[in-house]
Amino acid sequence: MSNGSNGLGHDKYALLRMIPKVDRLMLEPSVLNAERRNPRHLILRAITQVLDEFRDGIMTGEITQDSTLDIKNVSQRVIERVNTIARPHLRPLINATGVVVHTNLGRSILAKRVLKRLRELSAGYSNLEYDLNKGKRGSRYVHVEDILKELTSAEAAMVVNNNAAAVLLSLDTIARGKEVIVSRGQLVEIGGSFRVPEVMRKSGACMVEVGTTNKTHLRDYENAITEKTGMLLKVHTSNYQIIGFTKEVPLPELSALGRRHGIPVMEDLGSGCLIDFAEYGMLKEPTVQQALEAGADLVTFSGDKLLGGPQAGIILGRKDMVEAIRKNQLTRALRIDKMTLVALEETLRLYREPRKAIKEIPTLRMIFTPYKTLAARVERLKKMAGPLPEDNFSLGTMDGSSKVGGGALPGLDLSTRVLCLLPSRLSAAQMEMMLRENDPPIIARVEKDRVIMDVRTINVSELGVVARALQRISRTGLAD
Ligand SMILES: *Cc1c(COP(=O)(O)O)cnc(C)c1O
Repeated sequence: MSNGSNGLGHDKYALLRMIPKVDRLMLEPSVLNAERRNPRHLILRAITQVLDEFRDGIMTGEITQDSTLDIKNVSQRVIERVNTIARPHLRPLINATGVVVHTNLGRSILAKRVLKRLRELSAGYSNLEYDLNKGKRGSRYVHVEDILKELTSAEAAMVVNNNAAAVLLSLDTIARGKEVIVSRGQLVEIGGSFRVPEVMRKSGACMVEVGTTNKTHLRDYENAITEKTGMLLKVHTSNYQIIGFTKEVPLPELSALGRRHGIPVMEDLGSGCLIDFAEYGMLKEPTVQQALEAGADLVTFSGDKLLGGPQAGIILGRKDMVEAIRKNQLTRALRIDKMTLVALEETLRLYREPRKAIKEIPTLRMIFTPYKTLAARVERLKKMAGPLPEDNFSLGTMDGSSKVGGGALPGLDLSTRVLCLLPSRLSAAQMEMMLRENDPPIIARVEKDRVIMDVRTINVSELGVVARALQRISRTGLAD
């Protein structure tokens, strides 16, 4: 406590009077310089925010020294704030969490070939809704319909904004005003914003729950069928597993029941993948093709989960039903935009050769990266960071596990090798924050009081940025 500050109101008012005035700040060379690059109102907004914070700091007793209120110090804070306000809010970052399909971090990242097409198509006009053969208005949905049919053997296909929209639209079209039978074990909530009972209510369908949380039998569905039944719905329990004493009705049996009673059967696959993970020695995740083969009349899934494409909702199935869905007025409100459409088409084109899909679609590539490659990547990262002072933390490596995420393969742990930051002067929480405040931000996990960085989701081209951030944090607060 220098400057005689003793926390008395009197001193606070003295400090308040020392805060530089707006006019004075506007004359500072660094602020004038910032004004050449940014609109004036933005500079004023930054000044107002920063001065408010200084005032608050004084009142709460955080600021007790007049040197903090030095014009150089305050203007520096203003410049930093101008830069923060001026830069885009939606920013790229580095995902070091090891969760491949991380919903908070934008789910799937797109393949290089997809980005190229995206650029080509969005920079100019296109045949989005124009039939080049007829020279007349066409449909935006035709661009992906054929390839979806080709890849899945579905009778018909349709795409909308996301899978929530696909489910809502299908229920609204097929089961509005009717009853939809669903197992109590499948009343899924995805990330809080998609809940089966609520989507059902919005669609105007009446949900009829059958069975129990752990067991639902075919006879439970059968007993609930009335003349008001409009659909039998199966929901993929994508982000949890019910294990132990359980029973779920397999789709082929449910489909047969539906057929016997003339009732449509729909499966919300959630993630929906086109390649069979089991064939590659991974845990079984039902494929879209298998759901259709098992007799589902409709299946829906996301474009940006395991498929590895843009945000979209894909609806496949019986022609008459898909056509009815297309004619629903709601479709117009849930329609897919052209940038998504081109990204989806190009992603789907990669699936014509599954080996290529695994190599080129980042989501699949990351899931399939072997442990050996990841172990080498961690060593490379450590080497790039070089020998670091160990005052703040020390670096180590260890085995860990990554997750697929995005409500896919919830029981699957992918073995990986991680970098860990073991705290010394800095705590794990402090380091996690400093990584998050890096430019670009690096998102890591804190586990057992260590910061864990999983290289499965870090691109090789990003290793340099991560290494530099580690160097910076290792030197923070040390004398030069
Ligand atoms: C993810 C998921 C949804 C929602 O899909 P969005 O593409 O995020 O709208 C719906 N149902 C299931 C089972 C899911 O896993």
